Amino acid sequence: MDSFNWPVIGHQKIINYLQSVVARKSPNHAYLFYGAPGLGKNLVADLFVKSLFCTSATAKPCGTCTHCRQLAAGIHPDVINLTREEDQKNISVESVRAARSQIQNSSLLNAYKVLFIREAEALSLGASNALLKILEEPSGQTLFIFIAEDLKFLPRTILSRLQVIKFLPVNTDEIEKYLLTQKIERPLARELAAASLGFPGRLWPFIAHPKHFHDHTAKLSLLLQKISSQTNERLRLIEGLAGQSNSETAKNNCREFLSNLLFIVRDSLLLKSGLSSELTYPRLEPDLAFLARRHSLASLVNILMEIRQTRRYLEQNVNPRLALENLVLSF
Ligand SMILES: [Zn+2]
Repeated sequence: MDSFNWPVIGHQKIINYLQSVVARKSPNHAYLFYGAPGLGKNLVADLFVKSLFCTSATAKPCGTCTHCRQLAAGIHPDVINLTREEDQKNISVESVRAARSQIQNSSLLNAYKVLFIREAEALSLGASNALLKILEEPSGQTLFIFIAEDLKFLPRTILSRLQVIKFLPVNTDEIEKYLLTQKIERPLARELAAASLGFPGRLWPFIAHPKHFHDHTAKLSLLLQKISSQTNERLRLIEGLAGQSNSETAKNNCREFLSNLLFIVRDSLLLKSGLSSELTYPRLEPDLAFLARRHSLASLVNILMEIRQTRRYLEQNVNPRLALENLVLSF
């Protein structure tokens, strides 16, 4: 009987299923792990593949056998990663062809060959067609693992050949329980679980360094104060973030700002609706109260929609400063 060591938060049904596949040594031909970023798709896929190869008689993956070490170092001869070339938007046909010959030439020493397609959305049309051919080939023990955030970019012809494993947000009670096992004090565990919104990936940096969570919320608190201040203060805030440039750094600053703002306005809305127990950041309640008092429910909903719209503008290459200035005038 195999035993396992999979440090994953949530997704128990998926884990039980995949571990039973490992125990029976009978993986299907092709899997698709899909769901929003931060849920743990890549983590689970890696543990699955490591456990398939791991030769240890104790908990899999052991981390010390040759397979585990090669996999951790990214140099396992029977695991191929189909990725985009750097600076390319899509996975090219050439990359698929290269992967195909790698599969055909790889050793026969091990039971499995694995082809990872971690950004399945990035497959070009040509690459999808080329990949479809490999998928249809009777290729012995080749295991295909597709990972995607969204299904709509995957051709149906490919999708129909994959066993789909869907990742959903994890119950925050489950996350809190996990945090308690990591020797995190209950009040902080509760706060972190709420702040995760069911996405364990948001928490890893805070589990390693709880102080980072305090810094993060202090930053949000400061943002709240600035966004609630006089108009010229708000405009100065944007100037500091976006500067004059259209650079990637300015854009990233703006993306982070919008994502933080979204949480703040969402929490203000919850507070205004009398749902303070649902806040993502309960410790910010005193700061949030000001915003909740200043705006009507309808106005907060409008701001929320404006933030989403501003995000889209940013991705459509509207000047970041211009887009954000318009937004902060609404506060
Ligand atoms: Zn091992």
